[in-house]
Amino acid sequence: MTYTPERPLRVGIVGAGPSGFFAADALIKQNLPVSVDLFDRLPTPFGLVRYGVAPDHQKIKSVTKLYQKTLDDPRVRFFGHVAYGKDLTLAELRRFYDAILYTVGAPSDRPLGIPGETLAGSLSATEFVAWYNGHPDYADLSPDLSTGSVAVVGMGNVAVDVTRILAKTADELLQTDIADYAVEALRESRVKDIYMLGRRGPAQGKFTTKELRELGDLTNADVVVDPEDMELDPISEASLSEDPMIAKNVEVLREFSGRVQAGKPRRVHIKFLSSPVEVLGSGKVEGLRVEKNELRDRDGSLAAVGTGETEVLPVGMVLRSVGYRGVALPEVPFDDRRGVIPNRLGRVTASVGGEVVPGEYVAGWIKRGPTGVIGTNKADAAESVRSLLEDAPGLARVADADAAPEAIDHYLEAKGVRFFPFDHWLELDALELEAGRSQGRPRVKLTRIEEMLKRTKELA
Ligand code: NAP
Repeated sequence: MTYTPERPLRVGIVGAGPSGFFAADALIKQNLPVSVDLFDRLPTPFGLVRYGVAPDHQKIKSVTKLYQKTLDDPRVRFFGHVAYGKDLTLAELRRFYDAILYTVGAPSDRPLGIPGETLAGSLSATEFVAWYNGHPDYADLSPDLSTGSVAVVGMGNVAVDVTRILAKTADELLQTDIADYAVEALRESRVKDIYMLGRRGPAQGKFTTKELRELGDLTNADVVVDPEDMELDPISEASLSEDPMIAKNVEVLREFSGRVQAGKPRRVHIKFLSSPVEVLGSGKVEGLRVEKNELRDRDGSLAAVGTGETEVLPVGMVLRSVGYRGVALPEVPFDDRRGVIPNRLGRVTASVGGEVVPGEYVAGWIKRGPTGVIGTNKADAAESVRSLLEDAPGLARVADADAAPEAIDHYLEAKGVRFFPFDHWLELDALELEAGRSQGRPRVKLTRIEEMLKRTKELA
């Protein structure tokens, strides 16, 4: 059956982050008549770009201009403050949309699985990042920054982000859109030493070179790398000629290891071949036991193996930054091992390798796992949209009356769901930008849902 401008293909997207927007954009940039509704449980759109990308990386955040353009298209609508599974169930989505696309990202974190991990002061980077970025769910996290030393576990870009934010001065942070409460807390921070711990070596760091270099350019912190850590095993040494990014990373780290400390107020210690084995403390974090590793070749990749030699880092806070993790959605298949929705080319399957669930699709981190930069989601979403469009002629169509765009609005209103439409977001956006302009900042974020709803009510 064909779709027409009067009865376009109706697509409901759950999750208005980067993948949701890239998918919406891919849908409107093809020939089949479509109409797309993007749902998010928060009143604000843009997901990880607003709440994950570091506040001092505004250039990366400028991708929201593209997303905003997607929302300017009359075929795309935004419904903020609508929670999947609560305000809108799968059965309800199935009633109003010919196809459903899940783009909910990976909101949780991977645990380390070591004793003491749940002590007060042991947090996931996911929580800490969401806190300083003003995510309403984490506005009350109040991390205790009265300690002199912090361990950041992991060697990815998220670990680099949290290390950098901990190392910067409040005045530097005040030039960003970091949450106001976070600047105030970080202004009072007593943190002097930040230990970034990698279980493998310098050639296995997951960070990108640009992000790594920033750690060497901090005005308020010296970067410290032990020259002994820079002696590479033969396999790591060989990888330098195979991968230019690894070679660059190692070059930057070697330069760091040769530096004479300038006596800045803070120090960022980048430590390799170090695995946390126990978080110590009674009631709260008082130290981290770390085991020295060596690298062993395991089927072509280098694995960290403990040597039995340990040391205790006298840290009062541990930030676990060993990867994000997807969370199961009610009534949607889930691969618990990988933390993703099982799929084939973006088509949801009932189980890993199982039958396709007709009319349901997935894109982004909840499809492939938490890897890649924001832009990686563009090709990923395009692949899922291609599958959806290939299937479109054979999809079970919802009733024409329910496919009318206003049908979902009326349904949600009747159900008492106070959704937050795009024009309300534009008002909030203008408020935040204006508050930012008067302080010489990119924006000043509202961080409480009640306040977001109240401010738009006042404007109405
Ligand atoms: P990631 O890049 O996958 O890094 C995870 C780190 O955790 C790795 O160093 C990993 O080491 C380590 N790890 C995993 N399990 C561990 C364990 N049990 N003990 C000790 N260490 C462990 O993840 P991420 O930093 O969360 O970043 C997620 C994605 O977002 C990445 O693709 C990243 O590039 C992207 N991102 C990009 C930017 C940017 O472009 N500026 C900023 C933030 C995030 P192994 O290698 O040994 O497994």
